[in-house]
Amino acid sequence: GATIGILGGGQLGRMLSVAAARLGFKTHVFEPGGEPPAAQVAHRLTTAPYTDADALARFAQSVDIVTYEFENIPTSALNIIEKYVQIRPGREALRVSQDRLSEKQFLQNLGLTVAPFADVPDHDALEKAVETIGTPGILKTRRFGYDGKGQARLKTPQDIAPAWADMAGQPAILEGFVEFTHEVSVIAARSPQGDIACFDPGENVHRDGILHTTKVPARLNASMRTDAVLIAAKILNALEYVGVLGVELFVTRAGLIVNEIAPRVHNSGHWTQNGCTVDQFEQHIRALAGWPLGNGSRYADVIMENLIGADVKQVADLAKEPNCAVHLYGKSETKPGRKMGHVNRIVK
Ligand code: ATP
Ligand code: MG
Ligand code: MG
Repeated sequence: GATIGILGGGQLGRMLSVAAARLGFKTHVFEPGGEPPAAQVAHRLTTAPYTDADALARFAQSVDIVTYEFENIPTSALNIIEKYVQIRPGREALRVSQDRLSEKQFLQNLGLTVAPFADVPDHDALEKAVETIGTPGILKTRRFGYDGKGQARLKTPQDIAPAWADMAGQPAILEGFVEFTHEVSVIAARSPQGDIACFDPGENVHRDGILHTTKVPARLNASMRTDAVLIAAKILNALEYVGVLGVELFVTRAGLIVNEIAPRVHNSGHWTQNGCTVDQFEQHIRALAGWPLGNGSRYADVIMENLIGADVKQVADLAKEPNCAVHLYGKSETKPGRKMGHVNRIVK
C-alpha cells in the first residue's frame, strides 16, 4: 500500500497515523524530538533535525505524499521534500499561516472580518500602532506562537514597554481586543476535486491560553452557523486546499470575526472521533489520498475536554464514566501545560 509521510510526531501525528493505518496506508513520521507520541503507532520513524538535508531527502523518497501536523516547518525543509514528493495541504496554506501578518492580510483580502491589526516590527511601530488601534489590544509574535505563547496584552498605553519586551525582539502584530461573547471553530476539509465537507462548529473555552473544552453544538444562530461554514469554504477554495483545516472564530453581536487558521487537523476537532462516522483524522487522510470525503454529520452532542498536565491522573475515574471515550497520547513525562490526552463525553 501507499505510504503517507507525516512531518511531526506529536499527538496529531499519532492520531493521523492511526487513521491512516485503518484505511490501509502506512505512515512514516519525521520528527526531530525524542520519544514522539506517533512513534508507537507509525510504521516508520525518522529522528532528525529539519536541517538534515540527507535525512529529509531519504524521508521524501520513501513516501508517496507528505502532510504535517504543525505549520512551523522551515521553508528550507519543505523545499527539499518538494523536490521528490507532493506536500498536502500545499505550500500556499503554509506560507499564509506561518506568519500572523500574512494570515491577517490574506483573510482580509478575502473580504472576511478580522480584528483591527497593525504590523509591529519595532518599539516605535508599537507606539504608532497603539495610537491607531487603541487599547485594549494584544501584541502577538508574527511567527511560532501557539497555546497563547508569544502574546502580551496591553490594557493601557503604559503597557507598551513591557509588552514589547515580552516579544524579545521578534517582529509582532498588534491586534485590537475583540469583545467576543464566545469562541467557535470550524473544522473543514477539501478534496483534490474541490469537494468540501465541514464538521459542525464547536464552541471553545480556553484556560491559561490553552484549549480546555470544545462543545458541540456551539451556541450559534442559524445565520451564523451558515456563515461559519461559508467562511471556511471560502478559505479552502482560495488556497486550493487539500486536507483538513481549522478556522478559529470570535462570535460577536455584529457577526463572526476570524481569529486564525490552522492548516491541519485541530485540537478543537477531536470531538469528531466520537461524534461522527468519519472523524477529522480519517477525513484528512481521505482528502490526501483522493478518496471521497466522509460527510461531517454529527450524531451526538459531545464535550471534548483536554487532559493537560496532572489532569491525566484522573484517567482511572474517567474510564469509569459510561459515556466517556478516553484518548491518551502515550507521553511518558507529565509536565504542566502539556497535552497528555483528551476525553470525549457523549452528552446526548
Ligand atoms: P492556538 O493554540 O489556538 O494556536 P495561539 O497561541 O495561536 O493559539 P490565538 O488563537 O491567536 O493564539 O489567541 C489565543 C486566545 O487569545 C484566543 O483563543 C482568544 O481567547 C484570545 N485572543 C486572541 N486574539 C484576540 C483578540 N484580538 N481579541 C480578544 N481575544 C483574543
Ligand atoms: Mg494559533
Ligand atoms: Mg488560536
